[in-house]
Amino acid sequence: MPSAISQFIHPALDRQGVSDEMRHLMITPYREIKFGLPIVDHEGGMKLYTGFRVQHNHSRGPFKGGLRFHPDVDLDHFRDLASVMTWKCALVDIPFGGAKGGINCNPRDLNQQEMEVLTKRFVERLDEMLGPDHDIPAPDMGTGPQEMAWILEARSQDHGFEPGTVTGKPLQLFGSEGRTQATGHGVAFVTRWACEDSNIDIQDASIAIQGFGNVGSYTAQFLHDFGARVVAISDKDGGLYHPEGLDIPEILQVRQQPHEKLRLNELAVSAEQITNEELLTLDVDVLIPAAVEAVINEENVEDIQARLIVEAANIPVTCEADQRLEERGIPVIPDILANAGGVTVSYLEWVQNRQRYSWKEEKVNHILEETLHQAWNHLTSYAREEQISRRLAAYTIGTQRVREAIQLRGF
Ligand code: NAD
Repeated sequence: MPSAISQFIHPALDRQGVSDEMRHLMITPYREIKFGLPIVDHEGGMKLYTGFRVQHNHSRGPFKGGLRFHPDVDLDHFRDLASVMTWKCALVDIPFGGAKGGINCNPRDLNQQEMEVLTKRFVERLDEMLGPDHDIPAPDMGTGPQEMAWILEARSQDHGFEPGTVTGKPLQLFGSEGRTQATGHGVAFVTRWACEDSNIDIQDASIAIQGFGNVGSYTAQFLHDFGARVVAISDKDGGLYHPEGLDIPEILQVRQQPHEKLRLNELAVSAEQITNEELLTLDVDVLIPAAVEAVINEENVEDIQARLIVEAANIPVTCEADQRLEERGIPVIPDILANAGGVTVSYLEWVQNRQRYSWKEEKVNHILEETLHQAWNHLTSYAREEQISRRLAAYTIGTQRVREAIQLRGF
């Protein structure tokens, strides 16, 4: 079966008349590794997990990409996600390549000590493959600042203190102001520009967001601040719906209380309960999938009623569904632009770390907005001139930059 992502890349390479050899080189990962990760569990028995890292391309800078801790991950998954990182960094023109990796564990089943041991062992196994000029991990699903702090510690043992080894760290360990919220912040900026472009007034736009983790919750917060009506949110067990708009600040406050791990549909707030499938097919102005891959697919694409889709998750729309949405005239803002705020501020964190200096949040947010806006303008004007979808425009710009770098450097 062709990978989800290669079906988006081939049409972009066709437009550039790329040879078969170059096409193969651009699609094939540079290196991939899969390894066993045993740990002693809290009862003294053994738990065995599998670790993965796929380094896709480093023609434009060190490999860069998140670590996902999730029970369903496999090598195919990471091949696609690593490739997405390559095109994303190229599209927003930051000097990184693409990678992705993680462990097939469920963080909810592990205590803090098990998580620490597992994360540090993962780093020990990768050893020389990582480093601030080689491969720089960051958070993704199931990981956050704490895991990044453990990664820094594990790398420092043999390589000395270098904060640019990993991004998305806590502020106390030279993380960047604005990084935790950066992906959601970027999604909110892009949603605002896309609404303007589609003649949707953001001040009264109705918005449904699937996934209320790092990306989904900050997206909801910033869109609420922009004046939009966030009418539905969900996590993996279901969600909440209120046609007048949910009280996002209240929900965020309740979630940050001691019951941090409460499911959304267990919260005592004024709203109806809703399933994930119902959320995706709501009649809203903007639908923002911010959880997992392939949630908009051949089976539900005909039921989608949103006027605009903004991909906050990676690859949430399958290629088949994407074609059908285009035929139906529903614009899709592709993940490689919409969620690029995270890697953009990761880059700013790395720059600050290399300078041994810290910038104020205002400066970080300003560069974030400017970087994404430049990419947005380039993408939308190119799509308009060439009369192609934004997805194809995004992949054409990204693949062209990577191809030129490969050709200039030689093989
Ligand atoms: P997270 O672990 O913080 O949150 C994930 C959320 O999705 C949770 O609310 C979870 O309950 C929900 N979820 C999980 N499985 C689901 C399912 N089957 N159906 C519906 N909801 C489900 O993860 P995150 O960091 O917010 O990442 C979300 C998405 O954004 C992923 O696709 C990730 O690759 C992408 N992304 C994240 C970042 C980042 O900086 N964290 C950057 C770029 C892209």
